[in-house]
Amino acid sequence: MSTTAVLVAAGTGERLGRGVPKAFVELAGVPLLVHAARALLAAAAVDDVVVVTGDADRARAADLLGAAGLPALAVCAGGSTRTDSVRLGLDACPAGTTVVAVHDAARPLVTPALIDRTVAALGDPWAAVAPGLPIVDTLKLVDPAGGVLRTVDRAGLWAVQTPQVFARATLVAAHASPAPAVTDDLALVEARGGRVRLVPGERRNLKVTYPEDLDLAEALLGRGAVPR
Ligand code: C5P
Repeated sequence: MSTTAVLVAAGTGERLGRGVPKAFVELAGVPLLVHAARALLAAAAVDDVVVVTGDADRARAADLLGAAGLPALAVCAGGSTRTDSVRLGLDACPAGTTVVAVHDAARPLVTPALIDRTVAALGDPWAAVAPGLPIVDTLKLVDPAGGVLRTVDRAGLWAVQTPQVFARATLVAAHASPAPAVTDDLALVEARGGRVRLVPGERRNLKVTYPEDLDLAEALLGRGAVPR
């Protein structure tokens, strides 16, 4: 078995408002994509990493990864949606890859332990595995004006993280089918009837989306809450 991590880093990061693609924004002086690549390489379960960036950013990404002392990694061009970027990263995986772990560069504080735990949980009868956490907020369905239509029972609702782990053949087949607009790869497998499992994630594996998320991530790093 050979596991390749596909690190998707081709998003624009408009909500972060930094004027550079999100994956290149620095957290404690290190770009988000370097934090994530370092954790993936440190995971015992990961044999290889393919990095997916905007076409124009490939050389810069390779330079940054090299400057961080990471081994030379394949860097390929992504697409206009996350799903396109994953598919392109999948195409660039080494021939011997049997398992693929898709990870968002927007989650720089992922730990090698969480990656290893998630990869280890893949197996019959599960077609895919990812970390997740039960929702803690009360949920409301609202109309465009903010009017509450109803309260949604949060029992059993989880927020999903990455890495999301699949047998390579499963993910290739899922990406080959015409898909509804989805925001993760589990949804593609679910749409084909595959059984998907969530394992407990980690709060520190937060997704950097808004400026405050960077502040929080920096505080967690500074506190040593993230083993590196
Ligand atoms: O936009 P969002 O924060 O949901 O993106 C999640 C991850 O997918 C990010 O790491 C981002 O770089 C990546 N992405 C991508 N290609 C896109 C859009 C998003 O690789 N076209």
